[in-house]
Amino acid sequence: MSYDSNNIFAQILRGQAPCIKVFEDQMTLVFMDIMPQADGHLLVIPKEPASQIFELSDDAAAACMLTARKAAIAVRAALNPPGMILAQANGSAAGQTVPHFHIHVIPRHSGEFLAP
Ligand code: 5GP
Repeated sequence: MSYDSNNIFAQILRGQAPCIKVFEDQMTLVFMDIMPQADGHLLVIPKEPASQIFELSDDAAAACMLTARKAAIAVRAALNPPGMILAQANGSAAGQTVPHFHIHVIPRHSGEFLAP
């Protein structure tokens, strides 16, 4: 799938759209979801331009997973939810709405077990 460099996460990475930044390193960025499914809902994205997991480099995939794990640990330390979902969708049929690879980190409470 060709990469649309005008998507909102690409704009956030370029500093052309705002976000509430939580963490950043050389390869990844973490920020608050604008329409959170729960308090503490974070998004982890690679700085590399990739629409879906299929285009992501091995290095970026590894960096995103490590950052997502750090984010989940931080959310657990801050909010102590009884559960936590890490989820990511590829393609509109799977529910992907922003065409830049992202991992959701979402605290879950009893009975809320569906992925976003
Ligand atoms: P998807 O549906 O593609 O798995 O997830 C996209 C996520 O991006 C949604 O949870 C949505 O709320 C979030 N989102 C969409 N636009 C923006 C934005 O401009 N800023 C932020 N922080 N999150 C956004």
